[in-house]
Amino acid sequence: HAQRQPGNAAVLYTDELMLEQQDRLLMEARLSQALDKGEFELFYQAQCDLQGRQLTGFEALLRWRGPEGLIPPDRFIPVAEESGLMVPIGRWVLQQACRQAKAWHDAGLGKPVMAINISPRQFQHPDFMAMVHEALDHSGVDPHRIELEITEGAMMDDAEATIAKMAELRRLGLHLAIDDFGTGYSSLAYLRRFPINRLKIDRSFIRDLGQDDEGAAIVQALIQLAHSLGMTVVAEGVEDDRQERCLRDWGCDMMQGFGYARPLPARDAAALLDVQPSGAPQGDG
Ligand code: C2E
Ligand code: MG
Ligand code: MG
Ligand code: MG
Repeated sequence: HAQRQPGNAAVLYTDELMLEQQDRLLMEARLSQALDKGEFELFYQAQCDLQGRQLTGFEALLRWRGPEGLIPPDRFIPVAEESGLMVPIGRWVLQQACRQAKAWHDAGLGKPVMAINISPRQFQHPDFMAMVHEALDHSGVDPHRIELEITEGAMMDDAEATIAKMAELRRLGLHLAIDDFGTGYSSLAYLRRFPINRLKIDRSFIRDLGQDDEGAAIVQALIQLAHSLGMTVVAEGVEDDRQERCLRDWGCDMMQGFGYARPLPARDAAALLDVQPSGAPQGDG
């Protein structure tokens, strides 16, 4: 590595930038073929209610088995999003997750809700509603068992258009969740205008629980805020008993995290369903 001296800082910068751009281009080229090659799969992470620890649903999480093995979503999703590839990939995710939910429902494994991540560009795409209809129609899944997770960033560009689109999704029977809440820049005044059922508190707030009193105060305030807006609350990234107990005491509705279950391939996720009492009411209808 070149030494960090004022004189060659620019050279160093250009070299690293070029490498980064080459990496990106290479990844983009591979990503554009990954759908056709069948290199994507979905993992499913269980969510449960905090009071009874009953499984209520799953979040579908995208995995890419690329040429060098499994590539984490945090590395390839930003590239896919910037290049526009996340729109066709997200379309596949919608279809696949709806199909999987329908298969579990048909197999008598209860009626877990399937939560599906929607990228900002996917949500704003003119064909987005058509893609939702397509996934619902082709799978035949009950829309009341599907939840779409949308981040704050996707909602703020054109509030009126966002509200209209969300209202239409709700009319179809879908649930809507706001994902990674607290990491974006949403205005709290706006929040109540969006027809959202559920708020997912970002993992970073849960991780900081117990480190100081402020961390706890923020999480408690988020739970109260969501409830006062008529939303249920899911805590993300719950890893240990102490976090779980705090959240239960504070009235948080649901949790998702390694402390309950890791993201699992479909077959292993189905095994979690098998041990649930059958016919028990699951999800929040
Ligand atoms: P997310 O939607 O917030 O998903 C939760 C992430 O937290 C998942 O990471 C999950 O594995 C991780 N997680 C859950 N519980 C714990 C825990 O207890 N401890 C720790 N350390 N981590 C936990 P993953 O699967 O790597 O996904 C990362 C992000 O990639 C997701 O964050 C989401 O923003 C995005 N993503 C994943 N799949 C899709 C997809 O199909 N479409 C879109 N648009 N984005 C996706
Ligand atoms: Mg999510
Ligand atoms: Mg999240
Ligand atoms: Mg998150």
